[in-house]
Amino acid sequence: MKVFAHTEPGGAAQELEVERPELEGSAVMIRVTNSGVCHSDVHCQDGYFDLGSAGRYELTAAGAQYPVVLGHEIVGEVVAAGPDATVTPGDTKYIVFPWIGCGECQACSEDRENYCSGKKRNLSVQRRGGYAEEVHVPDERYLVPLGDIDPSFGATLACSGLTSYSAIQKIMPVPADKPVAVIGAGGVGLMTIALLKALGHENIVAVDMSEKALENATAMGATATVVAGGEAPHQDIVAAGGEKIAAAIDLVNNGDTSSAALFAMANGGTLVSVGLFGGQFTFPTALVAFNLLNIRGNFVGSLPELKELVKLAQDTDLPKPPITELPLTAQEVNSALDGLRNRTFNGRAVLVAG
Ligand SMILES: [Zn+2]
Ligand SMILES: [Zn+2]
Repeated sequence: MKVFAHTEPGGAAQELEVERPELEGSAVMIRVTNSGVCHSDVHCQDGYFDLGSAGRYELTAAGAQYPVVLGHEIVGEVVAAGPDATVTPGDTKYIVFPWIGCGECQACSEDRENYCSGKKRNLSVQRRGGYAEEVHVPDERYLVPLGDIDPSFGATLACSGLTSYSAIQKIMPVPADKPVAVIGAGGVGLMTIALLKALGHENIVAVDMSEKALENATAMGATATVVAGGEAPHQDIVAAGGEKIAAAIDLVNNGDTSSAALFAMANGGTLVSVGLFGGQFTFPTALVAFNLLNIRGNFVGSLPELKELVKLAQDTDLPKPPITELPLTAQEVNSALDGLRNRTFNGRAVLVAG
């Protein structure tokens, strides 16, 4: 089977032929039909994440081995199943939950695999991901039926959608009229805005450097926008929301955005740090105490959260971020990653098998 793999940090994806693995237990092989391109794949292509003063977090330190096959927003069909699987090969489409833990630690036993402290099996990092003809999924329990959701949109639910949904769970409950800032109106930010609106929130402040991104944000349900880069961004955020913000979901999460969010925050407010742009917190620690602030991290979400989100998407006509579909080839993996890196892409890119 063909995979579109990166053979070294910073390199381009290449088409490689690899052997299809033997299927044991309830494992399944999925023929990839739709494969979303997520911004975290840009960092994975670089081979590291910037941890500010803590240096770099290398992909290989996370357990990745070259060649790596990126891509973790996968929709596809079962083409083969292990001896204990109950699912049968066919043309039913599934969203693949890619954030697979060790299966043995406390978090995994509680179905919170994104909190796994053991040997992770995340697709696209430790295991081969979705820039491929087929992907090996170690258990059929990680398949969530797509139903009547558009498959390219459905693919984006596995990471950008799930991350948004899980981050929103961490700020709730917030009264519907109290301002919530969404910082960064790229793929995850737009999905966060759409989900906040679908959940009934009425005061959503979108913050981004790009006017075009803010237009998208307004179309998705943002009620006010702030062009980042002003002299006092926290004041711009407060002005846009009409009062200090009850919460912020920071999809950029560098030193500037995190401090702007915290300075703009009402007493008892919650900042959820999501983005991986890197940097350092620069905020007076005493104000965290005086203002009773909460700072929470978010990394993707759990399998139960993905199932809740898919149900929400099936039951609600969610506004969809702009999606550009490209052929699932090595060349288009590279052009999509370049487009995300250079911010020349509007919304999301999803690779579609021919
Ligand atoms: Zn992602
Ligand atoms: Zn675990």
